[in-house]
Order: sequence, then C-alpha cells, then structure tokens
Amino acid sequence: MIQPGVAAPHLAPRLGLEDVHERPGVRYREMETKALLNRCPDTSRMPFDWTVNPYRGCTMGCRYCYAAYTHEYLGADAQADFHSLIYVKRGGLEDLERRLPGLFARGETLALGTATDPYQPGEPALGVTRQVLTRVAAVRGARLAITTKGAAILRDLDLLGHIARRGHLTIRVSLISTDVALLREVEPWAPPPAVRLEVLRRLRAAGLDAAIAVSPVLPALTDSEAALDALLGAAAAHGVARVTWNLLFLRSPTREKYLGWLEAAFPRYAEAYRRAYASGAYLGGAYVERVRERIGRLCAKHGLAAPVDDIDDETGPRRAAQLPLFAAPSPKPAPRPSSIRNVAKSGATSRISCGTPT
Ligand code: SF4
Repeated sequence: MIQPGVAAPHLAPRLGLEDVHERPGVRYREMETKALLNRCPDTSRMPFDWTVNPYRGCTMGCRYCYAAYTHEYLGADAQADFHSLIYVKRGGLEDLERRLPGLFARGETLALGTATDPYQPGEPALGVTRQVLTRVAAVRGARLAITTKGAAILRDLDLLGHIARRGHLTIRVSLISTDVALLREVEPWAPPPAVRLEVLRRLRAAGLDAAIAVSPVLPALTDSEAALDALLGAAAAHGVARVTWNLLFLRSPTREKYLGWLEAAFPRYAEAYRRAYASGAYLGGAYVERVRERIGRLCAKHGLAAPVDDIDDETGPRRAAQLPLFAAPSPKPAPRPSSIRNVAKSGATSRISCGTPT
C-alpha cells in the first residue's frame, strides 16, 4: 500500500536528499542502486526481457505520460513532481557489466526508455544513459531497443553504430504531430518537431534502424487526415522508412492530469473525452479501425512500410509480444464514428494500446 508522501520502505534508504543538478524549475537528486537491470516478468508479454531506466521522472512534461504514477513509490507527488523532481540512478554499473554478456548470449533483449526518456534534458550533463550504453556496446551481439524524444541521442552515434554493427539495435523516435503550437501545449519541454525530424534524418543517415513512433495518437487533436498526412510526409522526407503507432491510453493519475489539461486548453473536447473514456483506459471499436486505416493508407501514400502497432512491432530485437498494459482485445463491432464526439456517442470504449512512454 502506497502512502502519499512516503517512499516505499525498500526505496526510502536509496533516495538522496540533496539536489545534485538544477535547471530552472527542475531538481535532480541521486538514487542509489545496486542493479540497473529490471527483469520483465515472464507473464508481461513485453517485446523485451529487461529494461533500464537511468532516471526516474522525466522533464519533457508530456500531458499524456502514463509513467507518472511511478513517482508515488518514491513518496513524491505523481502530478506535481514527476516532471520536476528527477532521480538520477547512481551505481549498478558493475552489476550491468557482469550480467549483460550472459543476457545477450541467451538472446535476451534490453530496452532503454520504457518508463522515462533516457535522453531527457538532464542527460547531457548527467550522462547515466551514456554510461549504460558504453556497457552495452562492450558486448558483442547486444540486442537493444531505444525509445526517445531527445536530440541528445545524436551524441551517442558512435556507440549506437558500434552496437548495431555487432548486434541488433532498433530506435524509435516519438513524434505525434508537426504542429509546433500544439506540441508546445502537449509536450511542453520536448524538442520541437523539426528537431526530432532532424534527429531521425541523422540516425537514418548513419545507417541505423530508426522508426517514427506516432504514439500516442490523440483523439481530435492529432488524428485528422491532414495532421497525419503532414506528419508521415515529413517523416518520409527525412528518410524514415518505418512507422509504429498507438492510441491514447488514460489511466489514473494520468487520466485526471490529461483531462484537467484538456478542459483548460481545449474545453470543446473535454466532454467528448470524458464520455469516450468513461468506461475504461482505452478507446476501441470502429474508431481504432478508422485511425488504423488512415495511417495505413497515408504510409502507403508516402512510401513508408505498413505501420505496426507499438505492441506488434516485429522489427525489434525479437518478436514483439503484447504487453498487458497495452494489450487490446478484439474490438466489438461498433458504429463507425466520424469524430471523437461520435466515439463518445457510440460507446465504443473498449480497449486499445496506449501512449508509448519514453
Ligand atoms: S511520455 Fe516519455 S518523454 Fe514524455 S514525459 Fe513521459 S517519459 Fe518523458
């Protein structure tokens, strides 16, 4: 049982009290760890076996970020602190060096950026992700997947190329729109679209398998034909060949945060969202198929490979299986909605995949 404001007993002794790095409005504190590797439970059906999150908390500030609840285990406030109080993992590198060779020899895979962004703004100064990547690059046959919005990934082109040449590396750069003003609202401290497109271009130019992750598609905000056409066209123009995607997933406390923000920023959609997500964290039914058809058709138009749901991304280090958190049962037939308003009316609110946390 988590008590608000109280760190979980096993985490409390590991949390630093002094800030080690600051930028306006953001505090960084150390968090001791003996093991950076987290094992994905056999039942998780994740498309990878292990994860490393160099940081806890993420300053990019995405309104839809579902990982905010993880701060509650640290005794921090998920709403207020997740984007402004960042814990920096210290330690665990020797353990990583010792275990990675066996892990990769067994064909197991490691994911960087599953709960927080490994290239968030603090990384250039703090360097924990670089330390992890250095250990991965030392092992021949490494199998690594990275998801990020951060341009700092370009700093590590040397290591990424090394890993890709001797093993298997997939990168997904998350970008949901080319609308600068909208993204400033939705992802206030993430790099603007032009920067992420340039990151994709340089990753591709370096010969790396870098896909655009259109995750999550936001109903009524980024799901239109024109918006997706512009996004996928821009991706293709920057050398991208592969697209993954999913739809907005809303679970508490992100649900309250996102809907509260929407109420203030786009009040005309608030009621439709509340109704659409009234019975669950996922949208589903005909709306999902409508978006799927649209993205597929636009990918074909721009010469991109057929898009895959994030959960079905088979180009990863090994066959991606479904993560229960993202798992989507077959949607029940439902009337085809023409808009988010009709999604709400149709009651097509079963389940689909959610936004990719990076
Ligand atoms: S969605 Fe990813 S980039 Fe955005 S705040 Fe969450 S972890 Fe950071």
